[in-house]
Amino acid sequence: MKEPIVELLGISPEDARASLRAFFKARNEAEFRTKQVEEWLFDRHARSFNEMTNLPSNLQVELGNEFSLTELESTYVARSSDGTVKHLWRLDDGERVESVLIPTKDRLTLCLSSQVGCALGCQFCATGHFGFRRQLRPAEIVAQYSNSSRVALHDFERPITNIVYMGMGEPLANLDSVINSLNTLHRGFRKGARRITISTVGLVPGILKLAQRPEPFELAISLHAPLHELRLELMPIEKRYPLPDLFEALRSFQRQKKRRISFEYTLIDGVNDEPKLARALADIARGLTCFVNLIPFNPIPAISEWRASSPSKIARFSEVLTERGIQNAVRRPRGRDIAAACGQLRLARKAAVSVNKKEGL
Ligand code: SAH
Ligand code: SF4
Repeated sequence: MKEPIVELLGISPEDARASLRAFFKARNEAEFRTKQVEEWLFDRHARSFNEMTNLPSNLQVELGNEFSLTELESTYVARSSDGTVKHLWRLDDGERVESVLIPTKDRLTLCLSSQVGCALGCQFCATGHFGFRRQLRPAEIVAQYSNSSRVALHDFERPITNIVYMGMGEPLANLDSVINSLNTLHRGFRKGARRITISTVGLVPGILKLAQRPEPFELAISLHAPLHELRLELMPIEKRYPLPDLFEALRSFQRQKKRRISFEYTLIDGVNDEPKLARALADIARGLTCFVNLIPFNPIPAISEWRASSPSKIARFSEVLTERGIQNAVRRPRGRDIAAACGQLRLARKAAVSVNKKEGL
């Protein structure tokens, strides 16, 4: 029986090397062929084996019979006036996920997806609203990086410097695939662990597992409310892992990793932006070395009437945190004009498609 095709971006870089070595050895090819393929894969972001022009064409064909490079098809690209570029990628079964390139003066950050949809149903999140479809394979996570790298070099003439797992899905609910993808990004593509951030809604077992990793990956926690009742209203996960359990896990993470932890706090007008909540946040974060990112809510018109808090309300919230010794920054929303918040483009495209259908287009 024919062996299934191996996705080179979906296995560890060490396994990829061993598989390639075995492949070339079986054909009496020299060892350096493995290095050549690795260079095409990890340094030159090859789209196909045919591009590997320093390999004879018969080897290109034979490689393609045994291995795949997991190409994603870009079905939609949106470019924001602020430079943000968002891709909607079509997967081999027709599902779609998004990734976003966010340029700043000295960084080019890729925000990538870890699942198709998300099961966790946070009230303020477009991805949460359309529910869970399926897990992403490790290679589908990494392929967002390799495909986006080509765009980065072409459009921005510089490589991606930072990676954040803040697109669609909850990374720690797809932990094995996410860990595999981290291995390939870190040890294959040689992205520094300090430049890779995993953002989670607060799945305690996953946080404890990440704490055991030797690499200093960054951890960001989607907090959004410092009190149980309010957090439960916004984020159903609060029922399974309430704040005291989450913070115990974070303290344990910090004891092991000695790393600063980030919190994400999306400010929604009249919902979670009162100064007393900033005081409560400072209270629960006491003793942790942390940084709070304050993010104006990105409205999701099709789903809710919530709006972003006013700049003065956000400034006040920030002040209260600062007065209480909690480092924080207000983040500028990026790519608003292209629906760059988590899950929004897929949703917007879906709406556009159903309108077109209704109009018989
Ligand atoms: N599931 C993970 C990572 C993906 S969400 C998590 O929840 O952390 C990435 C970030 O976008 C999270 O901090 C999430 O709370 C935030 N987010 C989701 N919808 C948003 C919206 N409409 N406006 C602003 N931030 C949003
Ligand atoms: Fe899922 Fe994160 Fe959205 Fe919550 S915020 S629904 S965990 S993707």
